[in-house]
Amino acid sequence: MKILVWNENIHEREQPDVAAIYPKGIHGCIADFLSTESVIVTTATLDMPNQGLSEELLAETDVLVWWGHHAHDAITDENVETLCRHINGGMGLVALHSAHHSRLFRRLMGTSCNLKWRHGDRERIWCALPSHPIARGVPEHFELPREEMYGEPFDIPTPDEVVFLGWFAGGEVFRSGVTYRRGTGKIFYFQPGHEEYPIFHDRIIQQIIKNAVEWACPIQHERKAVICENAQPLEGGIPLA
Ligand code: ZN
Repeated sequence: MKILVWNENIHEREQPDVAAIYPKGIHGCIADFLSTESVIVTTATLDMPNQGLSEELLAETDVLVWWGHHAHDAITDENVETLCRHINGGMGLVALHSAHHSRLFRRLMGTSCNLKWRHGDRERIWCALPSHPIARGVPEHFELPREEMYGEPFDIPTPDEVVFLGWFAGGEVFRSGVTYRRGTGKIFYFQPGHEEYPIFHDRIIQQIIKNAVEWACPIQHERKAVICENAQPLEGGIPLA
């Protein structure tokens, strides 16, 4: 399996407190825990040529993991189009935390993806669909001592599946882990991952993201876009009168 972890990598360079949590960047942390003998992980960041998103790299990527916040609007129209084409054609997407407002995710959803937010709250995450592959090995509930509150209403289309629900000590609730299909591509949005807290060092969060990339990977790594074609009948069909 080939994974591309894309990160804008701005907070880590501009905020010493974030750099202390993620000395190799959020992308480096995620790459470290995803990498195994059978999983090849590549990282890319906004400051790379063509924003780290070459056609060649995307063509051989099974699943794209996306973290962005400050620089959503910097992603070029062309790159948003290219990413959507690859996802509709079968590349998986795991969109993390503030990726809900990325141009890519909003384009795929077709809605504002707006939500309520507040820095620094305790979150309890409930597994709402324990039979789902993304919930494998995940307890019925677990807590993050500090996370950014994301609250409902979350302006997304009705998800295919709600795998996780979040509750915050301030009283809000949130659909924290949701799935979609777009074209032949599978999409998982996962709410935890604010840069000022060590969320991606959490073992359970790591397990969920590992499960998510496995789930989102195209079956047998085959990309099969749905094409629009004038099809010939299989058995001769009914001739026109
Ligand atoms: Zn955040």
